[in-house]
Amino acid sequence: MPDKPKLAIYWAASCGGCEIAVVNLHEKILDVDAALDLMFCPCLMDTKRKDIEALPDRAIAVTLFNGALRTEENLEMARLLRRKSQVMVAFGSCAKGGCIPALANFSTREDLFRSIYLDNPSVENPDAIIPCGTTSFPEGDIHLPALLGRVKHLAQEVDVDYYIPGCPPESHQIWNVIEVILSGDLPPKGSTIGCGTLTVCDDCDRTKEDKRIPAFRRNYEFYPDPKACLLEQGLLCMGIATRSGCGAPCTKANMPCSGCYGAPDGISDQGAKMVAALGSVMDIGDTVGLSEAEISGRVSAFLSTIPDYAGLFYKYTLASSTLGGKVGR
Ligand code: SF4
Ligand code: SF4
Repeated sequence: MPDKPKLAIYWAASCGGCEIAVVNLHEKILDVDAALDLMFCPCLMDTKRKDIEALPDRAIAVTLFNGALRTEENLEMARLLRRKSQVMVAFGSCAKGGCIPALANFSTREDLFRSIYLDNPSVENPDAIIPCGTTSFPEGDIHLPALLGRVKHLAQEVDVDYYIPGCPPESHQIWNVIEVILSGDLPPKGSTIGCGTLTVCDDCDRTKEDKRIPAFRRNYEFYPDPKACLLEQGLLCMGIATRSGCGAPCTKANMPCSGCYGAPDGISDQGAKMVAALGSVMDIGDTVGLSEAEISGRVSAFLSTIPDYAGLFYKYTLASSTLGGKVGR
């Protein structure tokens, strides 16, 4: 029997949720095993970097690479796996757009270390010790990989063939992608696959009535009407600026979409699209006869009901956004 095509699944700066989504294939995982040789997955198997280094270039049929690039080790593994793989897939929102790890791009490395290890009410560190690159022990030195100056998404460093969005990707979509890859009938390079092309609003059953809202509210403040659009009830639902394909499980559960599938086709900046969309729901009352300063004051009062702009609008895409964050590219 000929060797099965090799599959690698690697996590860089990630939470492990993308691996859980693979495990959530349930019995389909047996079909994956029948079709592919999962030969590298540090989260699930005792496989080592030297196993990959020993392979000829392009020996791996497909690598699903999840996680953002946060450390030099992440970067080295991205370059190594790219060289060894025929198809490189940015798997999940961290690899595709930076996701939560990239929110660190609003702080310098020094600021991050200060707030994590020094100026934090839950930290007791009287000797002000912070991690360093090399620590010496009688048995020898141990090394920590250095943090990159800013968090990057995968395509900022290596050539990416396909993107699968989601935080994590929905398991049924992962299976669809594996079937497509196995069929050999591949979409054009650079495609975002395992998803739709429209917005979550297109998949959402809730009724929109073109209502305007005077202020935003938080989830814990009220119990939303389960049939009406959450955005029109004052919850910041990102469905309007988010790619379809997940089946809208969040809005079905009375929770606003937080935008994990990223921007739909044709939109390059998810956060900017959402800010533009807010104009269509904002109600600042009758402005006839008001001065520019008074109107501006009302707009500011409305916007002040949004608690965390970056965390809401760029939670999944900051590294790939036009804004990019405070730390320079
Ligand atoms: Fe559904 Fe949210 Fe779109 Fe409203 S904004 S239709 S709740 S996805
Ligand atoms: Fe992600 Fe939004 Fe879909 Fe929920 S509804 S899974 S947050 S894209």
